[in-house]
Amino acid sequence: MKFSKGEVILSIVFIVLSFAAGYFPPLIFIKWITFVVLIWFVIRKYKRDQKSGVNFLFGKAIRMVSTFIGLAAVSVPITDVAKAKHNGILFPYHTIHRSNYYLQEEIKDTFNFSGYIQDLENASEKFHAQSDSVLFEDKYYKYQIIKHEPDNYNKKILIIASIHGDEPAGALSVPILLRKIEQDSSKYANASFLILSPVNPVGLAFSSRENEMGCNLNRDYHLPTQAETKRIVSEIEKFKPDVIVDLHENNGNWKTCIMANSLVSDELGKFLCDDLKAKSIPLAEFAFDSNLELPGWHKRGYYRKAINYLAGLNDLMRYGEEINIPVITLESDQSLEEKKRIEICSLIVDALIHYDKSIGKK
Ligand SMILES: [Zn+2]
Repeated sequence: MKFSKGEVILSIVFIVLSFAAGYFPPLIFIKWITFVVLIWFVIRKYKRDQKSGVNFLFGKAIRMVSTFIGLAAVSVPITDVAKAKHNGILFPYHTIHRSNYYLQEEIKDTFNFSGYIQDLENASEKFHAQSDSVLFEDKYYKYQIIKHEPDNYNKKILIIASIHGDEPAGALSVPILLRKIEQDSSKYANASFLILSPVNPVGLAFSSRENEMGCNLNRDYHLPTQAETKRIVSEIEKFKPDVIVDLHENNGNWKTCIMANSLVSDELGKFLCDDLKAKSIPLAEFAFDSNLELPGWHKRGYYRKAINYLAGLNDLMRYGEEINIPVITLESDQSLEEKKRIEICSLIVDALIHYDKSIGKK
């Protein structure tokens, strides 16, 4: 099968634009215009060949269809790989990448980081807690690794709080959880906890999604490059949790939902969503470009898994799959008031403790 020079050039331009669009989204339009021109090229050729009496069907038709489908199919993962690399580790900015949220004058510097750390340290006094810190602009930003290990536990839960610093509810829910465990230890007697909070301390201090290197830490799990993610990965390896709970917030485009990797049972998803529903938390019916299987519940099936793999999405849910650990990601709705979002984090953790069936898929 022979391709014309124009088709080859346009195909290459299309693929290059697919990659570039990952870094600079407006290029998506030029990319699809190139695609349309390419189709027009092939159709023009087809008409010309028909005129000169060449049998089109068994040669050119196959070429035309395979060019279209092939290019469209490779374009999505190529764009996504570039996007993931851009969000992740390819270009560390060596300076903090402040989110739009942080750049708003009225928000700037309003998060009381030292106050939060003080509260966290007070709440974790009776627990086995370790501190670590991250250096940024001559200042150290602390985070804590807190362990709760009752005598007869039957599950190990790892909690990751506020890996995106502009999603503070997770971190803010931790001191509340610790105080509840301390006050009512019998209620929490069946679970051992390891809690990492705030896992992106500089991000939390500056309300930045990224860490001090401009890296989106939730794209840095497989072969981690950042101090924070290296620490999380090493704690996961040591603790060997039965389940990881990753506390996020969405930007208010959707209502609250729980995402899970393919290792989490649907039964658990239903249980968690029923619990939120019973507490009158509005749940998303649509999120991440798809209708959810169940309001509030989005599990990564084979299709998503394949797409994410092709796209090189290097997040915690995928890492969990690599190391065979169920991961539950809470996305509380940021349009709710902060107190409510913190409450949702607590509800999820409490519901998980009371769930007495298998967390993983049978
Ligand atoms: Zn997030």
